[in-house]
Amino acid sequence: MLLIYPPISKPCEPPIGIARLAGALYANNTGFDVIDANIEGIYWLIKNTPSLGDRWTMRATKNLDVNIASIKNGHAFKNMARYKKAVYEINRLLIVSQPGQAIKITLTDYEDKALSPVNSHDLIYAACNFEKNPFYVYFSHRLKNILEKKDYKTIGISINYLSQALCGFSIIGFLRQNYPHIRIVIGGSLITSWMGNKGLDNMFGDLVDYIITGPGEIPLLRLLGKDIKQGIKPAPLYDVFNRDPYLSPGFIIPYNTSTGCYWGRCTFCPERAEGNRYIQTDPLYAVHELSDIIDHTGPCLIHLTDNAVSPAVMKALIKNPLPAPWYGFARANKDLTDMDFCMGLKRSGCVMLKLGVESGDQSVLDMMNKGIVLEDVVGALENLKKAGIGTYVYILFGTPYESKESARKTIDFIAKNHKNIDFINCAIFNLPLNSPDARGLEIREFYKGDLSLYGDFIHPKDWGRLKVRRFIEKEFKGHPLIKPIIQRQPPFFTSNHAPFFAISQGKVC
Ligand code: SF4
Repeated sequence: MLLIYPPISKPCEPPIGIARLAGALYANNTGFDVIDANIEGIYWLIKNTPSLGDRWTMRATKNLDVNIASIKNGHAFKNMARYKKAVYEINRLLIVSQPGQAIKITLTDYEDKALSPVNSHDLIYAACNFEKNPFYVYFSHRLKNILEKKDYKTIGISINYLSQALCGFSIIGFLRQNYPHIRIVIGGSLITSWMGNKGLDNMFGDLVDYIITGPGEIPLLRLLGKDIKQGIKPAPLYDVFNRDPYLSPGFIIPYNTSTGCYWGRCTFCPERAEGNRYIQTDPLYAVHELSDIIDHTGPCLIHLTDNAVSPAVMKALIKNPLPAPWYGFARANKDLTDMDFCMGLKRSGCVMLKLGVESGDQSVLDMMNKGIVLEDVVGALENLKKAGIGTYVYILFGTPYESKESARKTIDFIAKNHKNIDFINCAIFNLPLNSPDARGLEIREFYKGDLSLYGDFIHPKDWGRLKVRRFIEKEFKGHPLIKPIIQRQPPFFTSNHAPFFAISQGKVC
């Protein structure tokens, strides 16, 4: 079988979903190949960008190889200005690859003004008009080439982000028209969310033969008629990716020890709204498996992709340090207020933790069932800083529980703790349609389309999106103690590249 990962997603590491499927297929003696059409497609576009003649584009074209090299050899991470220049210049070539205004491609996004990725009719249109896709020349040649050599019976497309949906369906349309005998299977986290939230059957008609939701390993093996070895969860496989092209200073291994979330109670959380079950691999088993993978692949960084790395996994990591640096999402709970625990994390290889703090107002946190105490967050940030672990704090403005006064408390909280915060991600709340937060609110359409997972709402405290947006731009981002934190956010790659600043400087910011 052939597994395809369509454009666009961050081109800095291989996709964990495909690595897991590859591991399962390999363990069950099934032949397969993998195409990361995201990284291949991005390179194809930036190498084939027509020169517009403007200075910025000419400079970006001239510097392309140097810029890519500086990200891959790590020099760019020694200086934020150099890094930003390299990334913006590479991105410039993607922007100008689409001379009209209709399609905008960046290192992290794909936007088509005429087609929406949350409208099933538009996805079908993209499939039926695949030759209009900007990646068409790349993927048609690539797929023709490989399909001439091998007789695949099944092709799987993994769609995880909205930015992959239109390109993913264009690839499906191309395959369906030219290779109608090949069975097409789709899966991935976006497909899972659609099927879970909308409770729909195959809304894509004849384009797709099977839709797999949730972790795809077992359903895919069943579909291929394999006897599954019970009780053994195969390790993900990374050898199937060409490790050279990814835009990072070395090969990053994404790895998850769980699916769902061990807390799973935050009212605003899509994980909860979708009812995703929490499944945790035995922590000690996961850590040993990861160590074996590291020994085998020699990565520069481990990206733990769990929604929240559980305390049990952290304890297992402390007892069994990894031979490579790692980072991931954690909950700012009591464990992190223990300095010894944080020092243990540091020795385990932890270089950065992402913490969902969301609000600086305890009553807002309580109403959203966040299950954290601001006093503990302060302690955690202090300890992590002392231990030399980077902190990446997530803030969420505009929840139904928040007022402008609450939002100001968030500013105060971040300002007071600014010395212990290395990076901030600040977002405006999107209301998951199935979340408990949606009850009792007047909902309006957010994205036009039958596949939209989020809604807009009349804010009960007159704190709507427009006001929140203005507040963020003026008061939050303009705050003299917060501004420098915002300015060191790595553009496009954000938290995926942030750990390299910690590693390359031997300290965090
Ligand atoms: S901790 Fe994060 S992933 Fe878990 S329920 Fe809360 S928001 Fe969702």
